[in-house]
Amino acid sequence: MIPYGKHHIDEFDIQAVVEVLRSGTLTQGRYVEAFEKAVADYVGARFAVAVSSGTAALHLSALAADVGPGDKLLTTPITFVASANAALYAGAEVVFADVAADTVNLSPMALKQALALHPKIKAIIPVHFAGLPCDMVTIKLLADEAGAAVIEDSAHALGACYPDGTRVGACTHSLMTIFSFHPVKAIAAGEGGMITTNDESVYRKLLRLRSHGVNKLDDPFQLPEQANDTEGTNPWYYEMQELGFHYRITDIQAGLAASQIKQLDAFMAHRKALVERYDRAFANDPLVRPAQSADKSSSGNHIYPVRIDFAAIDKTRRQVMLLLRDHGVGSQVHYIPVPMHPFYRRLGHVPSDYPEAMRYYSEALTLPLFFDLSFEQQDFVIATLRGILRT
Ligand SMILES: *Cc1c(COP(=O)(O)O)cnc(C)c1O
Repeated sequence: MIPYGKHHIDEFDIQAVVEVLRSGTLTQGRYVEAFEKAVADYVGARFAVAVSSGTAALHLSALAADVGPGDKLLTTPITFVASANAALYAGAEVVFADVAADTVNLSPMALKQALALHPKIKAIIPVHFAGLPCDMVTIKLLADEAGAAVIEDSAHALGACYPDGTRVGACTHSLMTIFSFHPVKAIAAGEGGMITTNDESVYRKLLRLRSHGVNKLDDPFQLPEQANDTEGTNPWYYEMQELGFHYRITDIQAGLAASQIKQLDAFMAHRKALVERYDRAFANDPLVRPAQSADKSSSGNHIYPVRIDFAAIDKTRRQVMLLLRDHGVGSQVHYIPVPMHPFYRRLGHVPSDYPEAMRYYSEALTLPLFFDLSFEQQDFVIATLRGILRT
């Protein structure tokens, strides 16, 4: 069975984890810091804070942007539910704005309309869908006008670049950027996430929130009379200064991810080659087209979604997926628009308010894309899909 996505582990990764196991430290050690530095250096950000998952990264980034009860957070309907859930974790309300047809990213036009309709948006979470960077210059401009913070959900886009050549994660157009290291993403930690930022006070808040809200670095004590006696600071003393969480990543996971990031450029190069081959194969196919027609040359190429007009062929998506599976080809749908989920409908969201997202969803199918997918296997995927659509 060829899955739609999969991690790649080599002997160096195994040795890296073994090294952590022999190091005497399993958590809160130097491997976490080394991985944070590796990511910060790679993307070109001042600070990086590693956490237990991309979802934890989204939750903490919403809190660090001061999103709270009574606030609104805007995101795209075409994303994993975690991007929107971050607002709810923080006690805020979610607002969606529709996607653009050529990118399946948050549409700047729809964003502008939503900001006019909801004057009190506290934060915006654009998602670089399938790894394709959003139009961050326009999004940041609109966010600044509205007084909203920007948090980039870059779970798909580690290794991607903006048009100016800087890496996604550098936070040139945002306050924070989050990443995920779930095995299906660009690099694997098992589970893991990261937040990058150039803002020192945000960085310090993230460090506290990751670990119970306890003071970190040289945070001043709020009760100095408890912290010190006449001779100096009490060695056992720490302060919980706000309500934080336990969202730490282990050194075992960080050791694996730090080994993986060394291979990221190789991973990216093969993904890019596969995407170019898919694009060429479907360029003149009347039944299948790449979901993103925009320039993908600096995309992270996390997944390969196509659009199929299922109404025009004599098969449903369910039938196509099952036939693919019968031939050993895995596929998936990214994503069910978030406002369609029963929980979001109960909150009053109406899927038909996002017609472009709904149109995309009715046609979407994600084909296999991962480092270990060979060109031969890819040709088989293409031929199999073509055969199924034409019989
Ligand atoms: C994977 C993903 C997340 C969540 O990451 P986890 O590490 O699984 O918690 C958030 N947003 C998007 C767009 C994702 O694809």
